[in-house]
Amino acid sequence: MKQVISIFLLFIGFNITAQKNNPKIIVGIVIDQMCYDYLYRFQKNYSKKGFNEIMKNGTNCRNVEYNYIPTYTGPGHASIYSGTTPNNHGIVANNWYERKSKQLVNCVGDLSFHSVGSDSDYGHCSPNRMKSFTVTDQLKLTYPDSKVISLSIKDRGAILPGGHKSDGSYWFDYQSGKFITSSYFRSKLPEWLTRFNENKNCFTYAKKWIPILEEQEYSSEDKSDYEVILSGKTNSQFPYDIEKLMSINNNLSAFTVSPFANTLLTDLAIEAIQNEGLGEGDETDMICISYSSTDIAGHAFGPYSKEIEDMYIRLDRDISRLIKFLNKKYGKKGYVLFMTADHGVVPVPKQLSDSNLPGGYVFVDSMEQKLKEKSKLAFGAELIEEIINLNIYLNHQRIDSLQIDIKDVESLIKNEVIRINGV
Ligand SMILES: [Zn+2]
Repeated sequence: MKQVISIFLLFIGFNITAQKNNPKIIVGIVIDQMCYDYLYRFQKNYSKKGFNEIMKNGTNCRNVEYNYIPTYTGPGHASIYSGTTPNNHGIVANNWYERKSKQLVNCVGDLSFHSVGSDSDYGHCSPNRMKSFTVTDQLKLTYPDSKVISLSIKDRGAILPGGHKSDGSYWFDYQSGKFITSSYFRSKLPEWLTRFNENKNCFTYAKKWIPILEEQEYSSEDKSDYEVILSGKTNSQFPYDIEKLMSINNNLSAFTVSPFANTLLTDLAIEAIQNEGLGEGDETDMICISYSSTDIAGHAFGPYSKEIEDMYIRLDRDISRLIKFLNKKYGKKGYVLFMTADHGVVPVPKQLSDSNLPGGYVFVDSMEQKLKEKSKLAFGAELIEEIINLNIYLNHQRIDSLQIDIKDVESLIKNEVIRINGV
């Protein structure tokens, strides 16, 4: 299987070298599922002070590539912040099969910790499956007075960047609509966050989502056969009455698919910087912000949708607001900011094939069935334990007990897989 995905890494504030000029704060921004071409495809509608400011005054690292698969959110965030690959940091996917417990596990799931700030299950989390240090861990090891705060809508988007020693990693609770943490990090929410949760939350930010610009400004069509119709809607077109969709479905996911979640997260970041006193101590602090709604909307609408185009135009304004705040608080040379993505996305495969472009689907269930049948036929026993994330886990115990050479099983499977169209 061959995948070509564009990625990018942008830095500003790079001219800080001398010890006495250490940045007051490092701001790490991950935009979940952002493709490199969005910097240019939607550029004419970006403001001067958002993405354009970073591209103009920063360093744009363009010749970079992913050296692992699968490129999911968990491995992406862990790789960005640890600087190494999943075989080292251990976050091989969002969910994977754990041989020892014979169970599927989540990259940040940890039942030994409970939610703080809610009585839901969304805080049963820790960074314990991440086996290497992050840059945030190293910062705190080297400079114990440094503070690290990490924020995201997704639990993994906050937990993996913040690392093992974070002073506060907060994510969205789909039950209460508040930002929460887990008992791994703290025993209670800081007062400023409790206040924030009361005044600024999904219920106060959810509005009617309509395109922010005039119709002719967009390059993407609203009407499309390749988008998910959100529950409570009869089509996949604007407007999206987010508040109404949340109440119809009694489900907060309508909020996190909307650009208003990016705005809420931006405001949370500004609030965290102010209330945690970030950048005000002697040592450099760090804040990690991971925008998740770009990915949630990307999965629902696809990269060529008007919804995604509008979301990025709005996100650009949020980022512009954040940069303006940082410039005012720290001065332009007082901070380092980097921006990147945890992975990209492919266009909707059906959209590709319908427009005579190469693309299609591999149906994993039927592949799994076929592989199981073939191995049973060849060796007289079921030898596949699990298939997840395109990884095939063989039943080592059974292979050993039947005294089968594992290399024979591997080569049978390899020969079968290679015949599948699309592999
Ligand atoms: Zn992601």
